[in-house]
Amino acid sequence: MENANGASRGVVPTEGELTAALQSLRSESPALGTPKVHALLLAQQPTWSVSEKRTRKVLQALGLVLSSGNSSSKPTGDRKYPASQLNPSLPLEQMTNAVKTKYFNDAKGKGLVATRKIEKGEVMWKEDPFALAAEWELYELQNKSLACFYCSTPMSHSSNAVLRCTSTSDSLACPATFCNRLCRSRAESLGGHSMLCPGANPASNELLAFVEKSQWQALHALSRCTARLVMRKKAAILKKGGQKERAEVGKAFEDDWAIYTALAVLSYEDRFKYAEEMGGEPDRAAWQKAHKLLVNAFDKERRKSNLAHDPVFDEELFSYEGFLRGLGRMSLNMESHGGIYAVHSHINHSCTPNTSVRHHDQSNALSRITVLASSDIEAGEELVITYVDPSLGVRERRKRLAEWGFGKCTCGRCMEEEKSLPPQIEPASGQPAAGPDMSDLSAEIKAGLGLL
Ligand SMILES: [Zn+2]
Ligand SMILES: [Zn+2]
Ligand SMILES: [Zn+2]
Repeated sequence: MENANGASRGVVPTEGELTAALQSLRSESPALGTPKVHALLLAQQPTWSVSEKRTRKVLQALGLVLSSGNSSSKPTGDRKYPASQLNPSLPLEQMTNAVKTKYFNDAKGKGLVATRKIEKGEVMWKEDPFALAAEWELYELQNKSLACFYCSTPMSHSSNAVLRCTSTSDSLACPATFCNRLCRSRAESLGGHSMLCPGANPASNELLAFVEKSQWQALHALSRCTARLVMRKKAAILKKGGQKERAEVGKAFEDDWAIYTALAVLSYEDRFKYAEEMGGEPDRAAWQKAHKLLVNAFDKERRKSNLAHDPVFDEELFSYEGFLRGLGRMSLNMESHGGIYAVHSHINHSCTPNTSVRHHDQSNALSRITVLASSDIEAGEELVITYVDPSLGVRERRKRLAEWGFGKCTCGRCMEEEKSLPPQIEPASGQPAAGPDMSDLSAEIKAGLGLL
């Protein structure tokens, strides 16, 4: 077979090569149907011989096929709902033998299911954040050198173990202090601290000042994710040494990139359709300003490390569209205390949850979460948490979920309560429960929505 360029198509790519190529095409063009993706693939790889059927199969295995027009579970109307994909390189087996990932369908996306029976109270796994936008009280402590800049655990100045970031520029000193050497080295190797350090990168100061003033947690989390990804990408590009060392650094970036791009995504524009229907006015001027500040903060690094030479990376993080998708990723996947977690972010919502999340390690790893079974879970059963206050009535719960950009909840409890619902009257129990978790959540909803 010969293509238009005259090159012959004889190369049959391996599953891994095809998967990587399709993942990058999909993240570049998330809205294209399979035939178009297939055509793009062949244009990009003029020597490859790949059928559309094989392309579809790989896309399906990755959870990257868009919903077809006649699927009965497809959301109705013009509104878009979050899309997600599986990350084949997620190191789940290293964390737990109790759960595995599963792609349900295009409407529901991915989730986690039990691989065996799990007893109520069992700790299923513990997890450190991929990126953390500490809650504002903690962030203030971090900026006063009173909480670890990496794991956010509060600490006292008198502690001998306190280590400072030593970067200073002409006029700016970095306030960051760390619990110990491990936190300090991880802040750089996993957090890309120097990218958002006022001493090492003064250009980031305006972004962080805006984040703090607006208390926009999704923007904060996106800035932290971007710092991590840019730092890892830069390391992969600049790494010298033997092939093995370079391959390791390259893989560290690829694994991070796979985690980021597999997070459920809904562009801020789509997310705000509901807010607009409800009469809210998304602050697009603030979005544009935030985008400009984020681009400025990383501009020097992008030029220094030639990051723009990877168009997929550059587009996904620094174009305005990519930025809006990034904000959507953050607000959809953020745990209520501001962390983005690679595995936790897979857990879907139900109004009768069987899973709960705790911050147990208050003394030395505050940002670490412990995920445990809040009731017995059978093998094959899906793990679910609640994204909204479960004491609310069904209409109010659905309204809150819609504010987050999710579709109508059709969990067993919602369907049951819907039957006994008088038309348009919320049950009397529909008052928000008082409690720190829920007020955090509603504050985050506001912050995450960017209604400044
Ligand atoms: Zn720490
Ligand atoms: Zn610093
Ligand atoms: Zn429900």
